Amino acid sequence: MKPGKVYLIGSGPGDVELMTLKAVRLLGEADVVLLDDLVNREVLRFVAPDAEIVDVGKRGGCKSTPQVSIHEQMLKHAQAGRIVARLKGGDPFVFGRGGEEMQCLVAAGVAVEVVSGVTAGVAVPAVLGIPLTHRDCARSVTFVTGHTRNDEPTDWRGLAGTGGTLVIYMGIANLSRIVAELLAAGLSPMLPAAVIQHGTLPQQRSVVTTLGELPAALPAHGIGSPAIVIIGEVVGIAGYVSKNPAICEVQL
Ligand code: SAH
Repeated sequence: MKPGKVYLIGSGPGDVELMTLKAVRLLGEADVVLLDDLVNREVLRFVAPDAEIVDVGKRGGCKSTPQVSIHEQMLKHAQAGRIVARLKGGDPFVFGRGGEEMQCLVAAGVAVEVVSGVTAGVAVPAVLGIPLTHRDCARSVTFVTGHTRNDEPTDWRGLAGTGGTLVIYMGIANLSRIVAELLAAGLSPMLPAAVIQHGTLPQQRSVVTTLGELPAALPAHGIGSPAIVIIGEVVGIAGYVSKNPAICEVQL
């Protein structure tokens, strides 16, 4: 029997045109496609007609496939000699549990290859014209999750001290607490901040505001998950905050 193989593939932030050529080719070669729920279903047009497509989406708080079941499905198909495309939103190794999936496959002796994708934390700010590391005002960018396993603490004070741009994934549910900690650590309530939901997709919604106004801005604009939060002077470079210090919705 021909040995199977799993490709851990990043599908990019949403817009299918931001998927890599390699991802598109491998989708066409796969016998089985395991899809996360943040993956735009438009990618299915690249899948071979006789391939099996399995939805293994798992969103916080929603009906979900346990991670162990995803591992089992990858192993089952690869050990039966199939080519598996495990398609994940953004980049598989950025807050995507791709590392755990790779470890599981390696431990079982299954061939695995990782195909990077464009992560939401990079692609989504770009759509609003936010240059994450504009050299006038940011010498670093930190990608951080707002949601940790078992509520393990995050050193928000330390992150506030970097003076660089903060890009927060999965930050909506805990946003009030995160903002309070950043303000307590000395960040200015006037620091520009933005939130973008469904970035790069037709249903994209965004708010550009200030750190102090950020928690109130989300319900006011009906913005929820999945969203990226960006905090830092670079948000101001996009121009919107300087034009209008009040909360404004960006029209693209
Ligand atoms: N591996 C993914 C991240 C998975 S964690 C990546 O590299 O992009 C899921 C979080 O990513 C969401 O809660 C949200 O914070 C962010 N996210 C993913 N796609 C997004 C999009 N199109 N717009 C805004 N945020 C997005």
